Amino acid sequence: MVGEEALDYGGHTSCVEVRAAGRVMIFDAGSGIIPLGKSLLEEGVTEIDLFFSHVHYDHIIGLPYFLPAFWNKAKLRIWAGHMQDGSTPEQLVDGIFRQPYFPITKDYMRAEVEYCQFKPGDILTPGSGVRIVTGSLNHPNGAVGYRVEAKGASFAYLTDFEHDNGAGDAEVMRLAQGADLALLDATYTPEEYPRYVKFGHSTWDHCGDLCARAGVKRWGMFHHMHMRSDIDQAEIESAAQAKYPNSIAARQDQRFELPERGRK
Ligand SMILES: [Zn+2]
Ligand SMILES: [Zn+2]
Repeated sequence: MVGEEALDYGGHTSCVEVRAAGRVMIFDAGSGIIPLGKSLLEEGVTEIDLFFSHVHYDHIIGLPYFLPAFWNKAKLRIWAGHMQDGSTPEQLVDGIFRQPYFPITKDYMRAEVEYCQFKPGDILTPGSGVRIVTGSLNHPNGAVGYRVEAKGASFAYLTDFEHDNGAGDAEVMRLAQGADLALLDATYTPEEYPRYVKFGHSTWDHCGDLCARAGVKRWGMFHHMHMRSDIDQAEIESAAQAKYPNSIAARQDQRFELPERGRK
């Protein structure tokens, strides 16, 4: 939800910035990437890695308005690995900058853009000191979960998955294992979920269970259902915290500092 009913938790769609080992990494290009792009431009950041979990609208809608992509001093690497039909990241971006949905093609981007394709399960090293473990999530058309490791700290970005009590859950737990922080798809409440089976999203209760089994230190409910107001979301957050005290409902612009351990 957007507007005054959702000022506390926020109404932007998926976009998370991670800074580690001097690198700027962005996970998904939902509408949240628009204000992020403005601040990165003001800061003069010239090197950015952008990782797509997948390309459903809520995860790409901000890309055509991401200012660093149109700055000729910027270098943008776009990573994607969820497409089971072999479509490349470049083809996916072509599909975003396409008439009649958008007036200009991706060739108008002035940044130096590099496209990086991978397969779920690959380990990515966007730069020295950062290791990113990837895995396949149970979601219509596929999605990729990421686990970022740097200086002994770990963060898992696991959105757009539906619990399956099987291989999908095992993959979520592998990526979340012992993480300092994880963001998980808690779109629905346990009461709502029966109406949305096979929509590709999970509940706070399942996320809490998976995080407990994976030994996650702190986790955030993410991908809030789009029509929630702050009042609805606060109720969900307190219900979840009563059962899982290490949970929070992620808020727009919220920041976390993760502990560094050792050199790696
Ligand atoms: Zn999706
Ligand atoms: Zn989504």
